[in-house]
Amino acid sequence: MAKDFSDWFYHSPAWERTRAAYIVHAGGYCERCRREVEQGKRSLADMKPIKIVHHKIYLTPENINDPAVSLSFDNLEGVCEEHHNREHKAKGKRFRFDENGFPVKL
Ligand SMILES: [Zn+2]
Ligand SMILES: [Zn+2]
Repeated sequence: MAKDFSDWFYHSPAWERTRAAYIVHAGGYCERCRREVEQGKRSLADMKPIKIVHHKIYLTPENINDPAVSLSFDNLEGVCEEHHNREHKAKGKRFRFDENGFPVKL
């Protein structure tokens, strides 16, 4: 498998720390599920825990070294697998996600 530009980042202690802290900060549950529960579109029992901490501004080789993008809570969103897949499908990206939630190019 080809090495993705973001491999080192997703395995870095800085990201591990930020990701864990963000999940606590976000309350542990998928932020989009929670919004749907609030809007009455989803039942409380169907609210999923955060599986993936997503970058609202997608990481690129150009911005991955900029902590204001890669490590800022403002650019992060905690989502379940379903909502993460939906986000990336909506943007027409050709990715799938491995068991750790890391994007893998198809
Ligand atoms: Zn969700
Ligand atoms: Zn994502």
